[in-house]
Amino acid sequence: MIKQIVVACLLLLVVGPLSADSVEFDLSQVREFFPVADRLEEVGEKPPVTRIYRGNVLLGYAFVTSYIVSIPAYSGEPIHTLVTIDTAGTITGVRILAHEEPILVVGITDDDLQQFIDQYVGKRIGETLKIGGRPRQGATVLDGISGATITVMVLNAGITRSLEEVGKSLTLSDELAPADKTGTAGATSGAHAPIWVQVWQERIFQIVVLALGLLVLLFILIMQDWLARHPRLLQRLRTGFLMYTVLFIGWYSLAQLSIVNVLTFLRSLFREFSWESFLIDPAMFILWSFVAVTIVLWGRGVYCGWLCPYGALQEFVFRLGRYLKVPSFEFPEIVHERLWAIKYIILLGLFGLSLHSMSLAETYAEVEPFKTAITLRFQREWGFVFYALLMLLASLFIRKFFCRYVCPLGAALTFPARFRIFDWLRRRKECGHPCQICRNECEVGSIRGTGEIIETECHYCLACQITYWNTQKCPPLIDKRRRQERHRRSEGGVAAKAPPSDPPT
Ligand code: SF4
Ligand code: SF4
Repeated sequence: MIKQIVVACLLLLVVGPLSADSVEFDLSQVREFFPVADRLEEVGEKPPVTRIYRGNVLLGYAFVTSYIVSIPAYSGEPIHTLVTIDTAGTITGVRILAHEEPILVVGITDDDLQQFIDQYVGKRIGETLKIGGRPRQGATVLDGISGATITVMVLNAGITRSLEEVGKSLTLSDELAPADKTGTAGATSGAHAPIWVQVWQERIFQIVVLALGLLVLLFILIMQDWLARHPRLLQRLRTGFLMYTVLFIGWYSLAQLSIVNVLTFLRSLFREFSWESFLIDPAMFILWSFVAVTIVLWGRGVYCGWLCPYGALQEFVFRLGRYLKVPSFEFPEIVHERLWAIKYIILLGLFGLSLHSMSLAETYAEVEPFKTAITLRFQREWGFVFYALLMLLASLFIRKFFCRYVCPLGAALTFPARFRIFDWLRRRKECGHPCQICRNECEVGSIRGTGEIIETECHYCLACQITYWNTQKCPPLIDKRRRQERHRRSEGGVAAKAPPSDPPT
């Protein structure tokens, strides 16, 4: 089935139309800020600026920030913002014309955004603007938007840097008043550090704690055989790590990977690829890099079993169910394996949609309850919260229900996992013939009745490895232990019964 899906994806890639982004504005939009304007005239292409007139009187200028400085935001696409300035270089209006920011699609309203960009009105070319934090001499502080820090930084950089470019060009062509020339020149003299550098500097605590967590996970993976022979330690480590995943990676860092990231990455390969759009969120970048490496080494289970906040949340819900003695349920193997197809079909559908429209794909990617449960911490409209809770509730009865049958990200991660290098999960010839202990314990039902581990489904929880080394539980080991004990007993008995040997002559 995987092969057919890959072929279908490639076909979609070949025939699917890529939406061409072209963002225009017209006189009616400009009149919002210059009500008496009656015509527009393009100044030139470098930078692309439009003059605003009433009759022959020049009123000001208008431009779209992304056509002057294209700074990719979360979605990998820039935010297209219309800015108008008067002939003295003062901003008279700012409007977002288009964006593809996933966080804005789901969490932040247009009013929040409008309130933020309205703060630019009255600011002048060359003025230093800073988002949040302590006041700094010579800088004007603007209020940010909680939960959309990076988007807001990109918006700010887009507006201020394009203003500088426009100011420089208009100064050179003597269109701005002399008083503005000095301040402009001052602002454009230095080179700007890429925006991601600023973000990484500001998030150093998050980066260090995440890196330490990933080192601990690497230690667990490398020492898995030793740890599996110390089950209590491994189980405690696992529970602690899953808590870290939900609390720190999920609810603190908001670093829940999503199918939207995969679609954005694939799309960027066929458009203008830019590292900057991936570096913009350090936690996501580090996590994706780690996942890319561990998928090739150990398979997709390292992410799904250890690093996915929503996956970890489901596991805790399942454990709560066992504590409350809620009966759990498993589909028969044949039904269980047929139901896997659902997640691949969802993946294929989202991929096809993303080729047509990324915004549409993002909307349908809500099939992942990640944004509701993790990014927005359940602070959302009741419909989304209901769905996220429903999926968690399902895990009370069927362990990791969403992961097994619905998750398109889990499905996407199975493709690179097919090339994994290490096969460190140990099996015995008795596994499945007739022993079924590990199969019954597997958290996602990835062990067949025949004893074979389906590597693309495995979440690398290591439960089967704990059993593998357990001399009180694993039947072949129990047999071996008993044989050894019998042997020792019989040796002891023989030794006890044996007559004293003859003294040497
Ligand atoms: S299958 Fe999906 S929800 Fe489950 S752990 Fe993997 S990515 Fe997370
Ligand atoms: S029990 Fe074994 S096969 Fe099942 S998910 Fe855990 S490591 Fe993978």
